[in-house]
Amino acid sequence: MIQALRGMKDILPPESSLWGKLQGLASSVFSSFGYQLVITPIVEKTELFVRSVGEGTDVVSKEMYVFTDRGGESICLRPEGTASIMRAYLNDPEAKSRSLKAWYWGPMFRYERPQKGRYRQFHQFGVEAIGSNSPYIDAELIYMLDVFYKKLGINDVRVELNSIGCELCRPSYKDELVKYLKSNEDKLCNDCKNRINTNPLRVLDCKVENCSKIINGAPIIQDFLCAECNSHNDVVLAALNSCGVKYSKNPLLVRGLDYYSRTVFEFISDKLGGRQNALGGGGRYDDLSAQIGGQKIPSVGYAGGVERTVLFMPELDVKAVTVYVAALDQESLNSLAPIIYECKKLCIDKEVLFIDDDFKARDIKKHLSRADKLGARFALIVGTNELNSSSLVIKDLVEKKESKIDVKYNEVEFTAKLIVGRMLEEKNS
Ligand code: AMP
Repeated sequence: MIQALRGMKDILPPESSLWGKLQGLASSVFSSFGYQLVITPIVEKTELFVRSVGEGTDVVSKEMYVFTDRGGESICLRPEGTASIMRAYLNDPEAKSRSLKAWYWGPMFRYERPQKGRYRQFHQFGVEAIGSNSPYIDAELIYMLDVFYKKLGINDVRVELNSIGCELCRPSYKDELVKYLKSNEDKLCNDCKNRINTNPLRVLDCKVENCSKIINGAPIIQDFLCAECNSHNDVVLAALNSCGVKYSKNPLLVRGLDYYSRTVFEFISDKLGGRQNALGGGGRYDDLSAQIGGQKIPSVGYAGGVERTVLFMPELDVKAVTVYVAALDQESLNSLAPIIYECKKLCIDKEVLFIDDDFKARDIKKHLSRADKLGARFALIVGTNELNSSSLVIKDLVEKKESKIDVKYNEVEFTAKLIVGRMLEEKNS
C-alpha cells in the first residue's frame, strides 16, 4: 500500500471539521477587522525566501524543498506566507498605490524532523497589514488574534512580546551580543557556536540548558533601542493595556526569520511544552519589501500553525438535528431519494442534517441499527405501505415515538418543504 510521505498527513473527519471551523472563523473574524483573503502560488522562486527569510536561518539553510524546474530555474515549495504576500503586493500595480490588509491560509513546507506538532507539510493561517508604520496597527493585530483564539474556544493562550529594534539601533546591539557570546563560546552548543556568525540573535532562542545560563547574562536589546523604537513600543503596550489583552514582555524573544524589526510577538500555550509551545508568531517587518527589491513599505503580520491550533480546540458542539433516511425497498428509494436531495438543499446552513447511509434499500431492523450507530435523532421511513398511502413515517429515535405525515411523492419540492418544516419545528421545540 502506498503511504503518505514522512511528515505529511491527511486530515480526515472528524478532525477536519475543526479545520473547517478554524477556516470559517478566520474568514469572519479577519474580514471584520478589514483583512481580505489573498491567495498566492505554493511554488515560488527560491530567491524570494533566500532574500527575505534570510540565508542564515534554519528555514532557508536546512529546511527548504528546492527543485530545479524544466527551464533550469531554482524554485521551491513555500516555507512560509509573508514573503509571498509581499511579493504579490509589490507585483500588483493596483495594490501598490494603497495599503493592504491581507489574510491567507494554506500549506507550507519545511524539511524538518517530524514529531508531534511538527510536520514537513503543515498549514498556516496568516494576517498581514502592509503599508502602515502605526503602532496601533500592531496592537490591533494582536487584539484581533486574541479575539480569534478565544472564538475558537482556546482561552489559555498568552502573548509574549518584545521589540527587536530597527536597522538603526539593532547593529550596535548585535555587536555587543556577539562580543558577549564570543567570550562565552566554549560553553555554547555547536548550533549556537555557528549562530554567533550567521544569526547571533537566534542564540537567544536556544533551549539547551547550558546555553540558557549564558543567555540569561547576555545584554538585552531594550538597553539599545533608539528613541523611535522605544516610543513605538510604548504605544503598542499602552494600547494593549487599554484593550485588556494579557501579555508578558520577553526580552529574549526573537523570531526565526530574518525580516523582523521592532514589535515581535508569539501566542504561547504552556500545555504544548518544550520547543513546540508557540501557536504562532509574528511582528513588524519594515525592511522586507526592500530586501526583495521593492521600496521600503512598513508592515506587520502574524502566522499561526493550524495543526498546533487544532490540538487546543475543544470538540465541536454539534447542534444539528440528524435525520436518518430509511427506504425499505428499491421502489420506495426511487421515490424518496430525489426528495432527500431537495431536503439537503433546503437545509444548507439550517443545522438539520440528513444521513442517507449511501442510499441503501433494506429492511427496517438493519436501518434502525445503522441509525442508532450513526447517532441519528429521527428516522424517515418509507416502504410500500407509505408509498401506496402517500404518507411517510417519522420516528423519534430518542423518545421512541412515531408519527405519520401526508406527502405527495410526485411533488418533490412540496414534500421536501413539508419534511424540512417538520424537522425545523422539532429542532426548535
Ligand atoms: P514561523 O513561520 O516559523 O514563525 O511559525 C509560525 C507557526 O507555524 C509556529 O508557531 C507553528 O505553530 C507553525 N509551524 C512552524 N513550523 C511548523 C512545522 N514544521 N509543523 C507544524 N507547524 C509549524
